[in-house]
Amino acid sequence: MKQKIAILCSGGDVSGMNPALKRFVEYAIARDMEPYFVYHGFEGLIDNKIVPSTYSDVAGIMTRGGTKIGSARSERFKESSYRRIAADNLRAQGITMLIVLGGDGSFMGMEKFYRESGISFCGIPSTIDNDINGTDYCLGVDTALGIIKNSIDQIRDTASSFRRAFVIETMGRNCGYLALVSALTSGAELCLIPEIGGDFNDYKEDFASQISSGRDYFIAVVSEAMKNSDTVAEWFEKELGFEARVTVLGHIQRGGNPSVYDRLMAYRFVTYAIDGFLAGKTHSVICYTKSHFAFKTIDDVVSHPYRIDDELLTLAREQFRPSPHRT
Ligand code: ATP
Repeated sequence: MKQKIAILCSGGDVSGMNPALKRFVEYAIARDMEPYFVYHGFEGLIDNKIVPSTYSDVAGIMTRGGTKIGSARSERFKESSYRRIAADNLRAQGITMLIVLGGDGSFMGMEKFYRESGISFCGIPSTIDNDINGTDYCLGVDTALGIIKNSIDQIRDTASSFRRAFVIETMGRNCGYLALVSALTSGAELCLIPEIGGDFNDYKEDFASQISSGRDYFIAVVSEAMKNSDTVAEWFEKELGFEARVTVLGHIQRGGNPSVYDRLMAYRFVTYAIDGFLAGKTHSVICYTKSHFAFKTIDDVVSHPYRIDDELLTLAREQFRPSPHRT
C-alpha cells in the first residue's frame, strides 16, 4: 500500500506557498506516495477538510501569491482534545506524515501533536518576517523584499520631484530584517530597526548639512517594530523643516507573484522534507543555513530568538552612522 502524506499552511500566508504545493503533489507522486491537502491549516485538520490532491489541483498555481489551500490560526489546536480529533481524522484516512508551512508557533503546535499522536511532521519555515531561529531563510522573504524594493523605487521618484522626506514602514513584527536589507539595497538615508536602535536625533546635524548642500529628498526605512514612523516624520518637519510623509507598506508585502528565488526555495524545501520522511525523520524543521539544508529539532528553532547576521548588522551600522561632515 502507498504511503499517504499531507500538507497544510498555518499562520500568515506567504508568496511561495503555491509553488510549494505544486512541488509537493508532483514529488509525492514521483516517490510513489499519495498526496493530500489539508484546507485552512489546523482548523481544517480538526474539521476534517483533508482531501486527496492531484496534478490538476496544482496546475497553473506557480505564479500566484497566497495559498490555494488557505491558511489559518487555530485557538482550538492549542487544546489537546482538539488535537486528538485532528489526529483521528488523519488516521482515518491512513495519513502518517504531515508537512507544515508556517512559523515557529505552528511548529510548537506540531511538536505537541507528534508527541501525542506519533504522526510525523516536517516544518518548512514560511514567514516574510525572516525571524525563525536556526534558518537563514524563510519562504516568502525574497518576494516581500522585491515588493518593498519596487515600492521604495517608486516613492523615490515622487520624493525627489517634490522635495520631501518619505518614511517607509516595513513589516517584520519584532525583527528588523526586511527593513535592514531594504534600506541597504535601496540607498536609503536612514534605517531604524530594533537590532541597531539608536536615536534619530543623532542624525540632525548630518541631515541639516546635507540639506544645505542641496539634498532635496530623504528616504527613511523604518521597521514596524520601532512603532515610531509618525514620530520620525514629525521630526523631519519640525527639526529639519522638511515636508514628510509616512507610507506604511502593510499587507502588499505578503502577496504577489512569487520570485524566482522563492519558487526555487519552495521546490527545494519540499523535496528535502519528503526525502527526510522517507529517510526516517519523524519530527523536524527543514532549515537553510550557510547555503545548505539541515534538519533541526524544534528546540533548535524555538529556544532562542532569531538574530540577524552579524555581518549585515555591521554593514548597516556603518552605512547609517550619522556623519555630520558628509557633504
Ligand atoms: P506567523 O509567523 O505567520 O505568525 P506562526 O506559525 O508563528 O506563523 P502562530 O499564530 O504563532 O503563527 O501559530 C499558528 C498556530 O499554531 C496557532 O494558531 C495555533 O493553532 C498553533 N500553535 C501555536 N503555538 C502553539 C502551542 N504552544 N501549542 C499548540 N499549538 C500552537
